[in-house]
Amino acid sequence: MNMVEIINKKRRKEELTEKEIQFVIEEYMKKTIPDYQMSAFLMAVVLNDMTDSETIYFTKYMLESGKQLDLSIIDGIKVDKHSTGGVGDKTTLIIAPIVSSCGVVVPKMSGRGLGHTGGTIDKLESIPGFKVKLTEKQFINELNKIKMAIVSQTEDMALADKKIYALRDVTGTVESIPLIASSIMSKKLALGSDKIVIDLKVGKGALVKDIDSARRLAKLMIKIGNIYDKEVVCVLTNMDVPLGYKIGNALEIEEVIDILQNKSSSNLKELCVFLSSMMVSLGKNIPLEQAKEMVIDSLETGKAYQQFLRFVSYQKGDLSSLKKATYQYQVKATMNGFISDIDSFQLALIAGKLGSGRKNKEDEIDYEAGIVLHKQIHDYVSTKEVIATLYSNKEINISDREVLSSFEISSKKKEYPLIYEVIR
Ligand code: URA
Repeated sequence: MNMVEIINKKRRKEELTEKEIQFVIEEYMKKTIPDYQMSAFLMAVVLNDMTDSETIYFTKYMLESGKQLDLSIIDGIKVDKHSTGGVGDKTTLIIAPIVSSCGVVVPKMSGRGLGHTGGTIDKLESIPGFKVKLTEKQFINELNKIKMAIVSQTEDMALADKKIYALRDVTGTVESIPLIASSIMSKKLALGSDKIVIDLKVGKGALVKDIDSARRLAKLMIKIGNIYDKEVVCVLTNMDVPLGYKIGNALEIEEVIDILQNKSSSNLKELCVFLSSMMVSLGKNIPLEQAKEMVIDSLETGKAYQQFLRFVSYQKGDLSSLKKATYQYQVKATMNGFISDIDSFQLALIAGKLGSGRKNKEDEIDYEAGIVLHKQIHDYVSTKEVIATLYSNKEINISDREVLSSFEISSKKKEYPLIYEVIR
């Protein structure tokens, strides 16, 4: 087989065979296919798409390129959750304690963030002492003991995805439905949960910008999951505005605690209650409404918060040592009205400038840097009222205008759907 012929075939919009896809992935992993040929192939896929069969084979060989965990030694139905990412998205850290406190096992492997704000693992590392790297045995022991664990993605799972994703990141080939579906599903299948809930973000701040593409991605991931006997449910959610009030690693841990202590209400809490209910419903085979009652009870009685404390202490984190940034700067509104839009991307850029993210893998993060919003979508704000506070450990050099231009203020409240639809 010849890679140039395969690239040309995809360029002519012809369907590749299983053997050809196996060749592309296996030979790329053996380094007999160089990055430049793989990049050309990926661009041909972005432009000319893949059929469902091609995507299923692409997933299969990415999955088989690395280690696959066997979680069958853990009792009960294991339910994983994946979010396609967004600004201020700390849902995993809220949902895993809620769902596991309801008796459903939640195994979770997460990533660090590349970009303006950190990923789940960066947020956890903002807790002094917290260990994100566990051996497979420690991971399984924790799941057996406290029914939840969140660790960093091990190096040896879905190896081809790791290599191909890094290449996609720098060749403009991330935004392709079949490539996204196979990337996400190869990692989810390698972890070995029984059921998977996917929070598929749609909107300005998301990878998928429109509902039709989100529907196609959802159906494709469900189809791939079903081939491996996994139930997959996709929840299409709005990612036009940030989730919750806090953006930045340690600040987001504070917000996780606020929500688990049932002290804060926001779009973030609403989303977490919905996704947790879906996971509990799948894990216990009970109706969604009944699962929701369990979830609310866990929040109201403090069970979810106790579970979070147990989890942090199991992975050696010390919440009493969470720190605040040295510099803080308040931005005040210059007009009255309802907040009708918040540009999450613009806020993420500002958070990045304050130090909360990394451009390259090696960059250091300022864990305490970030933004606290004092107002959310639909809230009324008056002139001179504080709308946001910026935090950083270096002197803050951001203008009020830059922050204020992230908020749209108008005389009327605007409709804002949080959950578009559930596809299963
Ligand atoms: N997340 C992934 O894991 N892979 C993609 O391709 C896109 C988002």
